[in-house]
Amino acid sequence: MPLKVNVLSLARKSEHVTGELPAAEIAEGYRDELVSMGSPLAYDLDLEHQADGILMTGRLAMTVNCRCRRCLESFEQAVEIPAFAAVVPLEGEGAATCDGDFADLTPFLREDMYLVLPTNPLCSPNCCGLLKKSAEGVPDSEPPEDSGESPWGALDQLKL
Ligand SMILES: [Zn+2]
Repeated sequence: MPLKVNVLSLARKSEHVTGELPAAEIAEGYRDELVSMGSPLAYDLDLEHQADGILMTGRLAMTVNCRCRRCLESFEQAVEIPAFAAVVPLEGEGAATCDGDFADLTPFLREDMYLVLPTNPLCSPNCCGLLKKSAEGVPDSEPPEDSGESPWGALDQLKL
């Protein structure tokens, strides 16, 4: 079930809506080898009819299934937009699809959710990837060699 709102009744009175959009509804058009939708998208929104469209404010949250890009291990990650705000235009370019008096808000939630999904998922910031197994039991106290990540590192070496 997409999230649809009756525009006419919203124009008379603001609404508060809570519910869930099925993962499949959110995953539509989303292609990422390492990230897939793990749970429905939970929404908790205030809807207000304004001159330029429908103002949505509130909170969005869901869990996604990730695969670590270094070691390929699967893990879940919670993603949330705690202070979500968007205006859904009702006319002109990019306007909401309307079915009678009902405007479909789903694509606008989907769009913003995509922006916060992990793009390079890592099971942990220190994941050492496929070396993980062979490195097991080795204390990780050894500092990593200067990989030249900092330009100052290279400069320091020149000075020596
Ligand atoms: Zn990993």
